[in-house]
Amino acid sequence: MIAENVKKALQEIAGGNPFGEKITLVAATKTRTPEEIGEAVAAGITDVGENKVQEFTAKFDKFEGANRHFIGHLQTNKVKYLIKKTYLIQSLDRFELADELQKRAEKADWTADCLLEVNIGSELSKSGFSPEEAEAACKKLAAYPNIRLKGLMAMLPLSDDTALLNTLCRKMRALFEKLRDKDGRFAVLSMGMSGDWRLCVENGSNMIRLGTSLFGPRRLLSENSEGGN
Ligand SMILES: *Cc1c(COP(=O)(O)O)cnc(C)c1O
Repeated sequence: MIAENVKKALQEIAGGNPFGEKITLVAATKTRTPEEIGEAVAAGITDVGENKVQEFTAKFDKFEGANRHFIGHLQTNKVKYLIKKTYLIQSLDRFELADELQKRAEKADWTADCLLEVNIGSELSKSGFSPEEAEAACKKLAAYPNIRLKGLMAMLPLSDDTALLNTLCRKMRALFEKLRDKDGRFAVLSMGMSGDWRLCVENGSNMIRLGTSLFGPRRLLSENSEGGN
């Protein structure tokens, strides 16, 4: 079942987004077992993403061949466990975190590739820079020698209001295009989960993070800890 879901999703995104960009599929693996993740990787998943440091460490050591993303809220005191381990930290959401990351990465002689998280729906329950703050934040972060910003990440609000979601997506795409540089270093717009990824891709997302639609419903055990982490 997982293999089938992965192949179907990969097929569906194979043509890229309407802006002619390749779309990367990141499997969001929270609550999934290493066996389930292994099945997804065997079916063609190249990128995996975890929300919690403990799960990242416990599970992803087995998947060194995959690009390992950190996608959840990152506590400052846990940064040290991710040094030299991540392909991309998608959830750079505050300067306190950037400061700690800079310090630890510098000590390890490593550069952390990151996405700036934008709270596009201005939701109190979500972290991230506001769309208005994002440009200034990117400029400021350019001065952190051991942090390399590769793009933006956003989570849309849970809503049935397609018009609203389209508007928010377009706003993210416009912000992304404004910040994008000519040498192609800042090239990722990570936006889209199981419930909204098609809409996100239509509006120019080039990285989607899918959990439920690849692996099925999440186990109740961790249901409580989603989102906020
Ligand atoms: C869980 C999670 C996803 C995937 O969510 P689904 O709705 O299961 O596809 C994507 N991004 C982040 C940051 C997540 O925590």
